Amino acid sequence: MTAPPADREPSLGTPLERLVGVGTARAERLTRLGLVTVRDAVMHFPREYRDFSGAHAVADLRAGEHASVAGEVVDVGAKTLFSGRHMLSVRIATAAGSVRAVWFGMPFMAKRFAKGMRVVIAGQPRHKAGVWEFAHPDVRWLGETEEAHASDWLAVYPLAEGVQQTHVRMAVLAALGHAAGIVPEAFPPDMLAAKELLPIERALREIHVPSSREMIDAARRRFVYQELFMLQLALRMHRRHQQVRRTAPLVPVDARLDARIRARFPFAFTPAQRRVCGEIAADLGRAEPMNRLLQGDVGSGKTAVAIYAMLAAAATPVAAAGAAGAVMLEEGRPLRHQAAIMAPTELLARQHMATLERLLAGTGTEVQMLVGGQTARQREAVLGRIASGQAAIVVGTQALICGTARFKSLGLVVIDEQHRFGVLQRAVLQQGEAEPHTLVMTATPIPRTIAHAVYGDLDVSVLDEQPPGRQPVATYRVGPGDLDRWWDFFRKKLAAGRRGYVVVPAVEESKRDLASIASAYESLANGPLEAFRLGLVHGRMKAKEKAAVMEAFRSGAIDVLVATSVIEVGIDVPQATIMTILDAESFGLAQLHQLRGRVARGATQGICGAVVAVQDEPHPRIDAFVATTDGFALAERDLALRGPGDLVGTRQSGVPPLYLADLLRDGSVVAEARGDALALFDRDPELTDDSLLRLKELILMRWGETLGLGQIG
Ligand code: ADP
Ligand code: MG
Repeated sequence: MTAPPADREPSLGTPLERLVGVGTARAERLTRLGLVTVRDAVMHFPREYRDFSGAHAVADLRAGEHASVAGEVVDVGAKTLFSGRHMLSVRIATAAGSVRAVWFGMPFMAKRFAKGMRVVIAGQPRHKAGVWEFAHPDVRWLGETEEAHASDWLAVYPLAEGVQQTHVRMAVLAALGHAAGIVPEAFPPDMLAAKELLPIERALREIHVPSSREMIDAARRRFVYQELFMLQLALRMHRRHQQVRRTAPLVPVDARLDARIRARFPFAFTPAQRRVCGEIAADLGRAEPMNRLLQGDVGSGKTAVAIYAMLAAAATPVAAAGAAGAVMLEEGRPLRHQAAIMAPTELLARQHMATLERLLAGTGTEVQMLVGGQTARQREAVLGRIASGQAAIVVGTQALICGTARFKSLGLVVIDEQHRFGVLQRAVLQQGEAEPHTLVMTATPIPRTIAHAVYGDLDVSVLDEQPPGRQPVATYRVGPGDLDRWWDFFRKKLAAGRRGYVVVPAVEESKRDLASIASAYESLANGPLEAFRLGLVHGRMKAKEKAAVMEAFRSGAIDVLVATSVIEVGIDVPQATIMTILDAESFGLAQLHQLRGRVARGATQGICGAVVAVQDEPHPRIDAFVATTDGFALAERDLALRGPGDLVGTRQSGVPPLYLADLLRDGSVVAEARGDALALFDRDPELTDDSLLRLKELILMRWGETLGLGQIG
C-alpha cells in the first residue's frame, strides 16, 4: 500500500487517483461522472438506497418488490444454458427456507462464493419453480470488513458507461476518509443547533454510509436546507444588485390584439387557456418583469399559450427611450420586442419551429431557429438576425440560446421544460437594460412553496383542462401471454388508418444500446409489423436524420415509428393514436405518462399497451399507470414509489443536485429555509457578520458567476 507523501496535506482538491484503492485507471473512468477530486466524490450523492439489512423472511417476499435476505451459501453451481450463456446459481439457506441467486454471463462471479459463507443478498425476487430467485442481486459478504457494505442501507449512485457501482462506492469511501476533518462547515454553530442540522461531516458520512433510515433523512434534510437557504440568499443578493434596472418592456395586450392573435390558431382556446392568456397579458402590460410558472398536464395545450404570449411581444413596437415614437429598423420597420422559446431537446425545438412557421405563414413575422446541426454559416446568419432585432421570434435549445444569442430587444423568454428544471436561465438571459418577461412551462405539478423556493417569487398559472374531445388514453398491461393478441390488435388499428409508436427502452449511452435498438427494430420489421412501413428514431442519430424521420411519420409516409424515449418530450403528431411500450417496467411512471401523452393528441381515443415480462403478479408502477390517466395523481404516486427527478438541474462541480422528490418530501424544510433566508437577509443583506463568512464564500462560489454576484463579495 502506498501512503500519500507526507508533505502533502489532505485537501478537498486532491485528485482521486492519489487515493488508496482508486488508482489511475479507475480515476480516469470516474471523470465520466464528473468526479475528479475528493470534493467531487464526497459530493456525489446517492440516487437511492437499498435495504441491505437482510431482515426479510422468505415468507414475506413479494414478486418484484425489493427485499434483502441473510443466510449461508449452501451450494454454488454453474452451467451453460441452451442458448450458450453461462449461468451461475448460488443457493442460500436462510433461517426459514432457502432462496437462489443467479447471474447470467458473469462466470467470474463464481469465484466470489464458497459454501459456508454468510451473505446478504438484495434485489427483486421472482418466484420460479417453487423457489424465490434473485437475478443479479447486490451482495454483502458478512464477516468481511469491506466498509462499503458495512451499512444496512446500501447507497446506489448515478453511473456512467463503464463505471460500476462498487467503483463509485469505493472512491466515495476513500474520499470520505481523506476528507475527514477538513470539510468546511457553512453554518455557524448556533444555527446548526437552532435548526437541528447535522454538522457537515456527519451529514456527508450519513448520506453515503447511513447508520439508519432516520439518519438518511436527517442528512438529506441538512443538504436540502443548505441548498435552498443558499439559493434564496443568492437570489436576494442578485435582486438587490439589480434593483435599479428591474424593469421590463411594456407589452399592452388590448382586445383587438387578443382577438387578432387568437384568430391565427386553427382552434378556439379552451376556457383554461383563455384564463391563463389573460393572466399573462396582464403581466406583460406591467413594467415589472413577469415571472410565471405555467403548469399543465401533458396535452393541455401549453404551447398555444406560449405562442400567444410570444406573438403579443412580437406585435409590440419598442418605444424609443425618452422620446415618443418607436425605434426603427434599418429597412424602415419599427423594432419590436423579441420573444424566445427554449426547448429541452432539439427535436422539440424543431417541432416548435414547424408549428410557428405554420401559424405565421404570410405574416412577415420573422422566426429563426438555433439548434445543433446547423453549419457555422447558418448559425452566424441567425445570430446576426437576432442581434439586429429582425428575428422577431427565436426558437432553439436552451444551451444554444443561453450560450450564443445576443438579442437586440428581448422582451419575453419562454422556457419549455416539460418536467425538468433549471433555475437560472432568466438571470443568464438578462441582457441590456430591461429584464425580459419570463414564462416557464412544466408538466410536473409543483407545489407553490417549492416553486417559490426554487425560482424565487413567481406566479403560478394552471391549465387544468384538456382541449375538447380529448379522451383518456385506453391503457392496457400486456403480459407475455397477451402479446400475440396485442399485436393482432395493434395491426388491426394500423390497417384501419392509425399511425403508431413502438417505444423501446434504451439510455442510448452505449454501443450495446444502439445494437439492442437496432435488433428490436429488426425483429419488429421482420415479425409482428412486417406488413407496415417502419421508421426508426433514437437519440444518437443526427438531428437532421431525426427530423427527416419525424417528418415522414408526420406526413404518413411511415406507419409506425420505432423510437426510444426521445419522443417522450412533447412530440406532437395528432394522427398517431396507438402506442406499444416494450419493457415498460424499465421506465419511470412520469416517463410512461409522458410517453402515453403522445397518443392523446387528437379527437380519436388513444390506445397504449405496456408490455411487461410478468403475467399476473402485481407491479406497483405499471398497475398505477394502467389505473389512472391523471398526470397529477400519477406524479404523486411516482414520488411515493420512487425518488428523484432532477430538480435544480444546474449541476456544477462540488454541488450536489437537489431532487424534486427530496423537495416534495421535505416540503416543510423548503418553506423553513426560505423563511430563514429572508429573515437573515433582512437583518444582514451583505452577510457581513463574521460567523457568516464561510456561508457567503460558498454562495459566491456556487452562484457568483451565474448570477453576476462577483462584485458583491
Ligand atoms: P402540452 O401542454 O403537452 O405542451 P401541446 O401544447 O403540445 O400540449 O398541445 C397538444 C395538442 O393539442 C397540440 O396538437 C395542439 O395543437 C392541440 N391544442 C392545443 N390547444 C387546443 C385547443 N384549444 N383546441 C384544440 N386543440 C388544441
Ligand atoms: Mg409541450
